[in-house]
Amino acid sequence: MLTHSDLHQTDIHQTDLDHSIHEECGVFGIFHSGDCEAAPDIYYGLCALQHRGQESCGIAVCDTEGPRGNISYHKDMGLAGEVFHSDILTSLKGNIGIGHVRYSTTGASTAKNAQPLVLNYLKGTLALAHNGNITNSESLRQTLQENGAIFHSSTDSEVIACHIARERTRTACVEDAICKTAEKLKGGYALVVMSPRKLIGVRDPFGLKPLCLGRREGSYVLASESCALVAVGAEFVRDIVPGEIVTITKDGIHSDTRLVQTKRAHCIFEYIYFARLDSVMDGIRIYDARFHAGKALAASCPADADIVVGVPDSGLTAATGFAEASGIPFALAFYKNSYVGRTFIKPTQKERESAVHMKLSVLSSVVRGKRLVLIDDSIVRGTTIAGLIRMLKEAGALEVHVRISSPPFLYPCYYGTDVPSNEQLIASSRTSEEICAQIGADSLGYMKIEDFRRMTGELPLCKACFDNQYPV
Ligand code: AMP
Repeated sequence: MLTHSDLHQTDIHQTDLDHSIHEECGVFGIFHSGDCEAAPDIYYGLCALQHRGQESCGIAVCDTEGPRGNISYHKDMGLAGEVFHSDILTSLKGNIGIGHVRYSTTGASTAKNAQPLVLNYLKGTLALAHNGNITNSESLRQTLQENGAIFHSSTDSEVIACHIARERTRTACVEDAICKTAEKLKGGYALVVMSPRKLIGVRDPFGLKPLCLGRREGSYVLASESCALVAVGAEFVRDIVPGEIVTITKDGIHSDTRLVQTKRAHCIFEYIYFARLDSVMDGIRIYDARFHAGKALAASCPADADIVVGVPDSGLTAATGFAEASGIPFALAFYKNSYVGRTFIKPTQKERESAVHMKLSVLSSVVRGKRLVLIDDSIVRGTTIAGLIRMLKEAGALEVHVRISSPPFLYPCYYGTDVPSNEQLIASSRTSEEICAQIGADSLGYMKIEDFRRMTGELPLCKACFDNQYPV
C-alpha cells in the first residue's frame, strides 16, 4: 500500500489533483440476441442508476446484423428522463447498446464530455462508457499524443478509447486491444465497451468500481449496480470479477481472466454512500451494510437523547440501526423535496448552502423541545450538517448530537470519489471538538474504522480516504 504523500510523488501529477474531472458515474450495457431494441432497456437502466450521476447521460446502440460501424447515439446534459423523449428512444435502433450517467464536479460539466464516447478509427467504430478515475491518464495521454493522437476533451474516457483504438491496429480482436489497454491503466474503473458485434465489460483489478452481470432470457446485461438489473427485469448472475474482461456476442459470453489478481480493494464509499439502498454489491446488501453501521455507531458513540433522526436520504438507514441498537425511538425530522437535485452537486459553496434550504424543511412538531441524535453517513466539507443543525435548532431542538456512520474523512480519493483536495475536507485540519463547534453540534462522534467489518465482513476494502492506505 502507498500513502497519500507517496502517491503524490509518484503517479499523480498536480494537474490530476486540482483540475482533472473526478467522476462518480453509472454504466449500463445490454446485448439482446433477438431483434429486440436495446434503447428502451438502457433508458430504464440509466433511470435506475441516476443516483450515480445527474449532470449528463447518453445511449449508444448498434444492430449486430446491420452494416459494421453503424453506431447511433444520443447524449446531452440532464437527467435520463429529460434527455430521452420517446421519439429519441425510437430513433435509436439496434439490439445491443451501452449507456452512461455522469457526475462531474469541476468546471468540465459540458455536453461535450457526456458519454458514451463514440470513436471512429482505422479498424472500425467503438463506443465506450466509463465510471472511475485513471490516475496515470496524463502520462498515457502524452504518449498517445506523441504518437499522433488528437484529443477533443480532457476526459480519461477519451484516453482509454484512443488507447484501445491504437492497440486494435496490432491485435486480432477488440477484446485483446482492451486487455492491452487495461494492462496500462492505473486507478479505479468499470467500463462497458461496444463494438459493432460485441458488448464488453471490464472491471479494474482491485475491484474499486462495481460492475455486475445479469440475464433476461437470451439477453445479457452489464450494470454498475444490481438495482439496474431489476429495473429491466433481468436476474442477477454475478459480479464481474475484479480484473475480468467479459465479452458478450451472439454466441454467448466469454470471460478473460488474464488481469485478475489476488489483491482486492473494493471502495468502502460505495457501501457508505454511493450505491443505491436496494443494490447488492460484491455479496453485500447495501441496506444491511448501512443498518449495521448505525448499530455499530450506537455501541461505540452512545448519546443521551429523546429521538434519533437521520439526514434524508443519506443518514436514514444508519439512523434506524442506531435507534434499534440504542433503544432510542427513530423519528422523521425533515420533509424532503425530492424534486431538487443533490446539494453536493452544486459547484460553489454559496450555491451548496442555499440548496440545503431548498431541499429540506424541518418537521418542527417532531423536534421542538427534544434532544436529538442526528445521523449522517459522512461529513466532507461540513456544509450539509451545519445547515441542518441550524435549521433544527431554529425549529426548537434542545440539543443536537451528531453521529456519523463512517470515520473522519481525512484523505483525498484518486479513484473517482468527488473530493479533489485536502483543503476541502473539514476533518483533515481540525480536531473533532473544532468541527463540533464549527458545525454547531452539542457533541460529535464518528464510527470507528474497525467497525467496517460490521458493514462488509471480510470483504477486502479500499478505505484510503480514512486511513491513507492507497491500493497499488
Ligand atoms: P458536506 O456537506 O460537504 O459535508 O458533504 C456531506 C454530505 O454529502 C453527506 O450528506 C453525504 O451523504 C454526501 N456525500 C458524501 N460524499 C459525497 C460524494 N462523493 N458525492 C456526493 N455527495 C457526497
